[in-house]
Amino acid sequence: MALEKAAHELLGALGDESKAIRGEAEYKVFRDRWIARKNGILTQLNDLWLKAAPKDVKRTVGQQVNEIKTHVEDVVAKAEHLQLELATASPIASGTVDITLPGIRRPIGAEHPVMRTSREMVAVFQKLGYSVADGPVIETDYYNFEALNFPPNHPARDTQDTLFIAGQRAKPLRERLLLRTHTSPVQIRTMEKMRPPIRIVIPGTVHRNDPPDASHSPMFHQIEGLAVDTNITFGDLKGTLDHAMKEFFGSSVKTSFRPSFFPFTEPSAEMFVSCFICGGSGRRGADPCRPCKQTGWIEILGCGMVDPNVFEFVKDNGYDPKKISGFAFGMGADRIALLKYGVDDLQAFFQGDVRFLQQFG
Ligand SMILES: [Zn+2]
Repeated sequence: MALEKAAHELLGALGDESKAIRGEAEYKVFRDRWIARKNGILTQLNDLWLKAAPKDVKRTVGQQVNEIKTHVEDVVAKAEHLQLELATASPIASGTVDITLPGIRRPIGAEHPVMRTSREMVAVFQKLGYSVADGPVIETDYYNFEALNFPPNHPARDTQDTLFIAGQRAKPLRERLLLRTHTSPVQIRTMEKMRPPIRIVIPGTVHRNDPPDASHSPMFHQIEGLAVDTNITFGDLKGTLDHAMKEFFGSSVKTSFRPSFFPFTEPSAEMFVSCFICGGSGRRGADPCRPCKQTGWIEILGCGMVDPNVFEFVKDNGYDPKKISGFAFGMGADRIALLKYGVDDLQAFFQGDVRFLQQFG
């Protein structure tokens, strides 16, 4: 009788444990606990009940142990089946997912205002037949300065506040690496690869040792252009840029050119557009127009006819300054974006504050 009571308790525990199974891991623990060859409960029954039973009751105990064994194996097999069904059932069908709950909305990104300005300006020149050129941000002294007519020790180099890569002293000057201070090295790189005529526009990041403030940043964006062909004149330069500014800012803007100096162009000019904020009047109602400092004009870019000294560096690829001529121009995409979107702090573009950037989405 004691044996039957023990068997009854054992099978009761088996039933309770099998009902509590909630997954594969729990099922495996349950299975091993009952039928593992080593130390499983069935093995223990064999050792403790059957082997230890006196001879005269061995037969009865044997039958009891066999019945228990069949029952346990049956329950374990059922538990496995149930556990597999649970694992493959869809969460929706089993009711564990409430499909009436609102979903997680994935925020949609938007183009950064500086990137958008740059792309729109590039598109204006692409319509004129210009193609986009690209080059490395880490440049050599040769491409960033020397080939652009900044000779070693020339004072014009000082105006560029260059960030040099450390540990370059052992190299010859022209091979030393720096962060490009303008996109102009791409002009030389492109002329080395392509024979004239060329028309390229070059958007990209540049670096200078300028502490960040409302109008300066150690990293900013330029858009540069170069056209080289036979008989290119300053008239072509003016006509192209006047057309481009009207495309970009609106057909009512006027352009004005004032003499300037850049080492790689001769003659050089700064181009102004009539203020597209106050319409050139210098005033906004009773208030002075701040972006144009009440002058009615805003400086937008630097430009000029490519200096023949620059062509000398790529003369072997068909750029004989006696036969060809060209113009180049360069502008700051960040500054144009500031003006276009009426932002008064350049840093706002680079701080990554989503509240600021969301306004442009
Ligand atoms: Zn104005």
